[in-house]
Amino acid sequence: MIAVTMMKCACESCKCVVSIADAIKENDQYYCCQACANGHVKGKGCGHNDCRCG
Ligand SMILES: [Zn+2]
Ligand SMILES: [Zn+2]
Ligand SMILES: [Zn+2]
Repeated sequence: MIAVTMMKCACESCKCVVSIADAIKENDQYYCCQACANGHVKGKGCGHNDCRCG
């Protein structure tokens, strides 16, 4: 059995892929960072290069 360990961040405009072990889990979805998990309420991006979410 192969476990899925990598997931794309659940934030729609985020392109980051995170391993489930490192991801922030929120409402059964996995996010690359707290800013994405919060839905960017503070207008803060995730800060990763090439990623325009936030
Ligand atoms: Zn990102
Ligand atoms: Zn993200
Ligand atoms: Zn995001």
